Amino acid sequence: MTPATSMPRLKSSRPVSFTPGKWARELVRLVPAVAVLTTFAFLARGHFRSLGSLEWLDAGVFAFLVLGTTLATVRRVRRSMRKLPVLLRDELELGATALSVAFLVVALSGEVLFPIVYLLMAFLVSFLSRPAGATLLGAAVLFDAVLTLPDRWGTWLARVAFVGLFAALYHVVMSARLAAARAAEEDAVKHRLKEVEERARTFRLVSSGTQDSMPGVKDHEKWLLAAVKEIEGATGSALEVAEVALKAHTVGAFLLTSDDRALKLHDCRSSSEHVQRERFAAGEGIFGALLKRGVPVRMNGQAGLKGVTHYEPGGPTVRALVAVPILEGSGLVRGVLVADRVENHPFSEEDEKLLATIAGEVLRAIEVERVMGYIRRSRDEKDRFFRAIEELNRASNPEQVFLAVLESARQVAQLDFCAVTLVNEVNGGRRHRIVRMSGVTSAGRALEGQTFADNNGLVANVVRYGAPLPGRDVGAMDRQIIFDDDTQIRGLQSLKIFPLVAGNRILGTLVSGSRKKAAFDDDELRMLEVIAIQAAQAVLRAQLYEQMERMATTDGLTGLVNHRTFQTRFDEAMATARRYGRKVSVILTDVDHFKSVNDTYGHPMGDVVLKGVARILKETARDTDVVARYGGEEFCLVMPETDTKGAHVIAERIRDRVLKEVFQTDQGPLKVTLSLGVATFPDHGDAKQTLIDLADQCLYFAKRHGRNQTVTVAQLQGQKAG
Ligand code: GH3
Ligand code: MG
Ligand code: MG
Repeated sequence: MTPATSMPRLKSSRPVSFTPGKWARELVRLVPAVAVLTTFAFLARGHFRSLGSLEWLDAGVFAFLVLGTTLATVRRVRRSMRKLPVLLRDELELGATALSVAFLVVALSGEVLFPIVYLLMAFLVSFLSRPAGATLLGAAVLFDAVLTLPDRWGTWLARVAFVGLFAALYHVVMSARLAAARAAEEDAVKHRLKEVEERARTFRLVSSGTQDSMPGVKDHEKWLLAAVKEIEGATGSALEVAEVALKAHTVGAFLLTSDDRALKLHDCRSSSEHVQRERFAAGEGIFGALLKRGVPVRMNGQAGLKGVTHYEPGGPTVRALVAVPILEGSGLVRGVLVADRVENHPFSEEDEKLLATIAGEVLRAIEVERVMGYIRRSRDEKDRFFRAIEELNRASNPEQVFLAVLESARQVAQLDFCAVTLVNEVNGGRRHRIVRMSGVTSAGRALEGQTFADNNGLVANVVRYGAPLPGRDVGAMDRQIIFDDDTQIRGLQSLKIFPLVAGNRILGTLVSGSRKKAAFDDDELRMLEVIAIQAAQAVLRAQLYEQMERMATTDGLTGLVNHRTFQTRFDEAMATARRYGRKVSVILTDVDHFKSVNDTYGHPMGDVVLKGVARILKETARDTDVVARYGGEEFCLVMPETDTKGAHVIAERIRDRVLKEVFQTDQGPLKVTLSLGVATFPDHGDAKQTLIDLADQCLYFAKRHGRNQTVTVAQLQGQKAG
């Protein structure tokens, strides 16, 4: 055996060796900085006072500055064309050379043109990063001081004020535009999610529609078509879920060819036209390493990843990638499922897990297609089967799925006993649950809902090994333990238990039994197997949609309800209160001086604090309250059946708990405080927005009066009146 090769890795270190070419490049890199310094030195010493007095040396400095500006501009443009991140140094160089040119022009014009410095500053502050903008602002003010002080204090102060004012105004305008753009993007994502859900729903409707409009002989054909289409769409919808959930540029499934040497596209969802559609060598690049070792790969890199083989030439630059093998139960690798992004936004471990789940889905879909192929070849009298599959695919929640499984399994194989079990991992141990059953048993329906620990029974073993049991018909069926010792199923002569496999997980089993000896022929076994696969897929799909819905309604950082959901839940709470003449209170909170938490301890620590505050809110609120993240570090509580007095008590309890909470940081312990505003329906207003506005005014009042306090509408109005 050859030792496993190491995974492809990003270039982490480069040998530093200076060649003449490199020296020259380093020198060129210095030109902008040197040009700026020289220009200012000349300006400070009184050069460039008018065009007439220009000397040769001045002209030389001017030309050098123009060269410096050009170089800085070219470098900046090239980096943005290659979509590389912008470095602070580049921004400073570009800004400083531009400023030098401006100062030079001002000096030559005799200062009447000084406003161009205001404009330029405003421009720089808006388009460059905050540190670069601030540094350049400081540099401009400082340099102007050198030129004007100590004789002309008035002029200098006026200019400083104007430069600052212009910069601030521009900054505000740009921030507002950015916020608008971001909101538009968020809307687009929501729209996309809705579209996907809609399509899934339409799909079911279409197939059920087919059922109604199918009298006559052609039934079989239509059933078959609908069912096959649905099944063959399974890979597609799995990839679609992956694409949306992972915010990927491309999600693609590539399968190994029969000789294992090449990969070929099976299906993909991509924003690119360049996904490789021809077969390509399986042993090369990132996929090569993955296939060899059969383990997932997750990588990212600013400059674009090397060894990406799933695009044709001209494809996008991939900066983040996660790929998992498509593995059969036996460990045999069938292909690769990959997701990538062109932004340098790394995939998380969570993302990798989701992709692995979907890889399993894809494998199931491929297997089903294979079995379907067989059944299609011998398709007479199979319509019951297709009808069953159809039924299963229409089921939209787990309950319906279980019912449909029992119904379809009984129909295709004339079962006398049938059950579905699910397995759960609790504290590292497995626990099985009989969720649905039908048919003969002395214990009757009582079996439903029963749970049992992992044991040596058939169901437990099917889950353990992921393969159907028993292997052959066993003579004395009565002595077999199906579930556990306490639940004996008597009178069965034939038995087969199938695993419910979805993705890389085994969700449970389908138990089929008959009173007849050797009751199941090959066809029936095969059909039961497909039903088990479909059932698992249906359960998993229901779970995936649940997960997607959760992602769309909750805030990623804190796990609280997001702004949009808060609005609807508040509407609902008010509607109920209106109908029954009850009260609803709303608390708005904002962390005090949170900017300085970010500035002092860093943004990640700020996030930790937000999570902590969210946790306290959640713990202090009652189950019936809605706790939402309202904005950045603002939270909101909607409390049904609560008057101002009650809400005030809760608000103070929250404030007190946050006050006492100590966050551990690298720079020692950190404490934060909250300001809170409370308003109540119907006492203070009848409309949702009125109440939110009032609570906000209370909050603002608390902020102005020392923070770390709760203010109610009564206090607010008392103050106003007084
Ligand atoms: P005040 O007492 O007046 O509320 O002062 P403040 O500093 O808290 O001012 P403000 O409420 O305007 O500051 C909000 C800050 O919260 C600005 C922003 O950088 C920060 N922020 C917003 N969202 C997040 C986030 O998700 N994580 C972190 N770490 N900071 C955030
Ligand atoms: Mg705030
Ligand atoms: Mg704040």
